[in-house]
Amino acid sequence: MQSVTVLGSTGSVGLSTLDVLARHPDRYSVYALTANTSVDELFAQIITFTPRYAVLRDETLAMEFANRIRAAGSETEVLSGEAGLCRVAAAADITLAAIVGTAGLLPTLAAVEAGKKVLLANKESLVMAGRLFMDAVTRSGATLLPIDSEHNAIFQCLPLAVDAGIKAQGVQRILLTGSGGPFRSTPLAELDSVTPDQACAHPNWSMGRKISVDSATMMNKGLELIEACWLFQTDPSNIDIIIHPQSVIHSMVEYVDGSVLAQLGNPDMRTPIAHALAWPERIHSGVSSLDIISQARLDFEAPDEQRFPCLRLARDAAIRGGTAPAVLNAANEIAVAAFLEGKLAFVDIAYVIAEVMAQTNIGEPQSLLDVQSADFAARQLAAQIISAKTQL
Ligand code: NAD
Ligand code: MG
Repeated sequence: MQSVTVLGSTGSVGLSTLDVLARHPDRYSVYALTANTSVDELFAQIITFTPRYAVLRDETLAMEFANRIRAAGSETEVLSGEAGLCRVAAAADITLAAIVGTAGLLPTLAAVEAGKKVLLANKESLVMAGRLFMDAVTRSGATLLPIDSEHNAIFQCLPLAVDAGIKAQGVQRILLTGSGGPFRSTPLAELDSVTPDQACAHPNWSMGRKISVDSATMMNKGLELIEACWLFQTDPSNIDIIIHPQSVIHSMVEYVDGSVLAQLGNPDMRTPIAHALAWPERIHSGVSSLDIISQARLDFEAPDEQRFPCLRLARDAAIRGGTAPAVLNAANEIAVAAFLEGKLAFVDIAYVIAEVMAQTNIGEPQSLLDVQSADFAARQLAAQIISAKTQL
């Protein structure tokens, strides 16, 4: 029996994780569940899964929540803040990191530093602090397993021991697939006026709003490129981004002998979650069988960087290295939030990120503090650029 902390249990990945865990009560016990503000959702989860701890980011909310669950007869202990998140992240056998954005960095790192089995959905933490993050994995002996469907697919297509780097194992190229999102074929002139709800209506995946917008701009694929470089010890020149609108192939790996291995399945996060939870064993996930006959065809195309300028921005940041990915990620978070609040046009998300990148000095972070400073400065600059733009 292994104990599991789900960081961000009320989100899209969190819910998929609880669905898989509920199918295997003989293998996993829920140690802690955490949320930002979704108290009603968290309350229902506490009653169903009876974890030892629940964590809310806000202290006042946490105090009210503690009273509420005690009145309902629950013995779950309620913690709050970053300290609470880090504590439960470091204490379970398995931590699933599914907080969205920069907010996930410290709790995810706490799990890594405690040497746990860490299932990574929160790609932003690896994008921001890649080298420090991977150094911590090596130092602590943590087992880092990717939940992001593409990286999970790549992981499944690689030889088992990739410690020596994938090149040494005969891999020459990673083909990172992405659907192209809801605006893959929208006339360019119409992108100016698309709404947050249109951007969040992903054709194949049901996800949180931030990653849905990232998919619409394809910044998600850009972040995933950076994520793949760190996870698989390779560089951007060995990774091709391919548009595959059906999201049935979740990514591919090409070996030097010409073999290309792909992982296929229905687009449902429960597959990579179940794979990583049980790895190297296999367990049921609840995902239906892929009906390859009715699927009938798989299409592929090269991405258009005019339509998706965020792809080029992310590749540039990956090549520059240092704090560039942290700056890219921070500017993107602020621009996406402004778009979701109706304060920024969809096409200006890339403009804001490009401006922040152009106006920022990139350094080599020596510590987490350097990463956090770069993140903070980039957020401020992005906010200034957005407010200057809205005053025009
Ligand atoms: P979501 O918005 O649905 O859920 C986010 C979760 O994080 C919620 O539980 C929320 O309460 C919590 N949270 C948000 N802000 C927080 C804060 N400041 N402090 C503490 N907790 C906070 O997001 P999601 O779609 O589940 O995505 C989660 C992460 O997984 C993201 O990093 C995303 O890129 C990654 N991911 C998601 C999918 C997917 O299918 N949804 C696929 C691959 C990777
Ligand atoms: Mg993905």
